[in-house]
Amino acid sequence: MQTAPSKVQHFIGGSFCASENGAWIERENPATGEPLRLVARGGASEVQRAICAAEKAATPWAATSASERSRVLLRIADGIDAALEALALAESEDTGKPLSLARSLDIPRAAANFRFFATAILHETGESYRTETPQHALNYVLRKPIGIVGCISPWNLPLYLFSWKIAPALAAGNVVIGKPSELAPMTASMLCEIASRAGLPAGVLNVVHGLGGEAGHAIVSHSQTKAISFTGGTATGAAIATVAAPAFKKLSLELGGKNPTIICADADLTVAMPEIVRSAFLNQGQICLCGSRILVHQSRLAEFMAQFTAHVSGLRVGDPLDSESDLGSLVSNEHRAKVQALVQSGIDDGAKIVMGGNAPIRLSARVARGAFMHPTILLAPPQESRCVQEEIFGPVVTVQSFDRHADAVRLANGTRYGLAATIWTRDLSRAHRMASALDAGIVWVNCWLLRDLRTPFGGTKDSGVGREGGTEALRFFTEQTNVCIATGAQL
Ligand code: NAD
Repeated sequence: MQTAPSKVQHFIGGSFCASENGAWIERENPATGEPLRLVARGGASEVQRAICAAEKAATPWAATSASERSRVLLRIADGIDAALEALALAESEDTGKPLSLARSLDIPRAAANFRFFATAILHETGESYRTETPQHALNYVLRKPIGIVGCISPWNLPLYLFSWKIAPALAAGNVVIGKPSELAPMTASMLCEIASRAGLPAGVLNVVHGLGGEAGHAIVSHSQTKAISFTGGTATGAAIATVAAPAFKKLSLELGGKNPTIICADADLTVAMPEIVRSAFLNQGQICLCGSRILVHQSRLAEFMAQFTAHVSGLRVGDPLDSESDLGSLVSNEHRAKVQALVQSGIDDGAKIVMGGNAPIRLSARVARGAFMHPTILLAPPQESRCVQEEIFGPVVTVQSFDRHADAVRLANGTRYGLAATIWTRDLSRAHRMASALDAGIVWVNCWLLRDLRTPFGGTKDSGVGREGGTEALRFFTEQTNVCIATGAQL
């Protein structure tokens, strides 16, 4: 039986509300094709109302002690844990990802983000410098909240990435205008309710829903948003920079990736294989950190392909609500068409399709119209092929081989992106040498997606500017003032 789509409203000044003009965006469940949500379509007037609410809340929130902010954020984390099932279901419905994945990865990580920054602010240290020339002085650095900050996030890990921005922004004493993706807005809305019940004062967290070019642009271009933290596509990041940079806003851009997974001649394939498969296809390959370009030493290629195809053929694609499904649906049929066009371009360029592509999928009646796609392997595409150079953001990997390990680094670095890389080797010295030669914000050695939230997170080249995580995020969301006190040399 078809149920009526739920309405996702803005959250401004502590209350849910529709857009002034009554406009909505219709969003369907990508796995079933059924109408799922009506998402409020906000624009400049909703952002202006959110700015007014945030202005009222900014000074009192900035004045709260770190321990008080910490207590509120910890209660939000507890609220997320308590709503695990409802949040996971909403995430799965909005994105098509397996419910089991939302339950085990997305939602627990959102709670962890709040817990991490709630406790990080209790252990902050300051910087000070003793000066001796040209005269004696003591310098120390004050860190203050920026004020109103904009946080814009994508659809692939909706609450995970939204909270990765909002938690440090709030912890540092800022007030937030957030915009989740219009494709996956529900959990951000549920978070507003959780935060409100946890005691977050009205106006401290405001969420304006809508399209990027409308609500998103209004947040970026408003004179009162002093910093913009954005995660999404590289082209969108460039568009945002052209608006934010001339207004001298602080800008953090976490953008696309095309990450190499390097299998060295001495890799332990038995240990590596489950992680290589996971890194290629987790969340249907729709994670910026997915290892979508596999580079294998020539001497191991035949063995690698035999093991890899055996593992991948065991992955089950199906109903996201079925606990047996390893892969759910892609985020939309339009996105699947884009992914399939890039697969075709790889075939046209000479790659061999080893598995997947357009092959039909046996699906239950409930999800027969969904945006599903088999895990797809393209063997030996040329380095210049679009399927190697462009971010596909779907369940597609390319496999290329190399003769010398220096060639692997050259191929790995041979795209515009530089987000993550993974090396599988038993030779730690080689791992160190390769890690320092790779253009990547994060290099994993004999593991993947192992995240310590204290470490700097972000990309090089067209994968972004700035770093999130740990002290980097708290620095981004604060302004610094150096205080220089002349002390004199004599007692
Ligand atoms: P997207 O760039 O289309 O949209 C991201 C967000 O920006 C959405 O909320 C969207 O509404 C908004 N937006 C779009 N145009 C805007 C504009 N002109 N001004 C302000 N906001 C605007 O990205 P997407 O399709 O939602 O997400 C997929 C992309 O995100 C992939 O490229 C992926 O690699 C990237 N991503 C990067 C990271 C990372 O940490 N580096 C993490 C996850 C996803």
